[in-house]
Amino acid sequence: MWIWLCISIQLSVDAHAGYNFPVSLASALPSWLGPFKLGGAKHHDDHHKYFRYNFQPFLTYLDDWMGTTYDEEKEKEKAREREERRRSTAREAAKAAEAEPKKAR
Ligand SMILES: [Zn+2]
Repeated sequence: MWIWLCISIQLSVDAHAGYNFPVSLASALPSWLGPFKLGGAKHHDDHHKYFRYNFQPFLTYLDDWMGTTYDEEKEKEKAREREERRRSTAREAAKAAEAEPKKAR
């Protein structure tokens, strides 16, 4: 139990450090572990920044399987689409306002 406690504390310190240290538990695991890899500081920082993503604090496989892994490119694309919809709605509202007959005073 003490060994797990020490590992868990070290994982928490790594995850909250705000920096992916070149030597850490997250970087110590081989890359062939794939979805069972440790997320590291960036993964956990994204969880605190965008609270709807990266729920699994250390490992990443459940986020990958449930589609809650933060993907910066996908989020930028969603933001571009939202902005385009907003501009389109504003243009249509402006056209409708111009087409509407002016009320006499
Ligand atoms: Zn945290």
